[in-house]
Amino acid sequence: MESSFRDGRSISTRFDRYKDILMQHEGTIIRPPNEGSSILLQVAVGCSHNKCTFCGAYKGERFRIKDRETVSQDIAYAARHCRDQRRLFLCGGDALVLPQARLQEILGEIRGQLPWVTRVGAYGSAKAVGLKSDSQLMELRDAGMGIVYMGLESGDDETLARVCKHGNSEAIIHQGLRIKQAGMRLSVTVLLGLGGVERSSIHARATGQVLTRMDPQHVGALTLMLMENTPLHAQWQRGDFELPDAQGMLTELRTMLECTTLTRGLFLANHASNYLPLKVRLPSGKQAALEQIDRALAGHEPLKDERFRAL
Ligand code: SF4
Repeated sequence: MESSFRDGRSISTRFDRYKDILMQHEGTIIRPPNEGSSILLQVAVGCSHNKCTFCGAYKGERFRIKDRETVSQDIAYAARHCRDQRRLFLCGGDALVLPQARLQEILGEIRGQLPWVTRVGAYGSAKAVGLKSDSQLMELRDAGMGIVYMGLESGDDETLARVCKHGNSEAIIHQGLRIKQAGMRLSVTVLLGLGGVERSSIHARATGQVLTRMDPQHVGALTLMLMENTPLHAQWQRGDFELPDAQGMLTELRTMLECTTLTRGLFLANHASNYLPLKVRLPSGKQAALEQIDRALAGHEPLKDERFRAL
């Protein structure tokens, strides 16, 4: 997946082809779909939790915060070569877990050297957000952090416990609301199929209800694909986990969307893993989207071929 350049920099061809990634990226670089045009500044390698049974993204990678010199060199590189990119994403499975002083240092350097950057984003787990006080979250916002991407995955506590996600739904709701109260945008990711066939409808309904309570500006619904290097894949092979089929996933999507009420937000299910690409503006677009899902369930809308689904 990686090819080296003469100056030792590397490019992760699997994820992006933009010049912004000609940086000293190590291991796996993952960013949300809507950060595809952002400067990708890696501040940590791996994920500090790394225990979710469905996630193979950072398996085998030991979590560590990248050293100051490397991050500074990458910011200097961006200052020379990324002058037309207005957004920057701090890469790392849970970049918000970095100590407050280090995050402020990085945000200060970004503001000083990349003054054209208008928004910085990062992944932040409920655990990482919980380690910051309200005033620290506001300090991050004032320093340029504009959006936090939080993985809810499921609103069903039984499902969260089974997949070893850190924290329960109440904790995730609480920390998500703190992000918004601090003045940052909140984006929440959920995962269709995570409850298996057994908890499919419970998972879908509970997730919609939790999303309603979090009321984020942005929801990203992905569809579970089992990765071979994960414990959940092993459970599936043993027959201990049954993955819903395309119809089952669509039914979940319908229930989840029906149970989700946002004041004003986007519900996106247009990730490469989804069978039916949807981009729904809530609350106005809900009814039309539900009707589209119903047409798909009745076989009147084409679904993405299994071969073209991807993570
Ligand atoms: S899903 Fe997120 S928190 Fe869980 S192991 Fe993967 S990167 Fe870490």
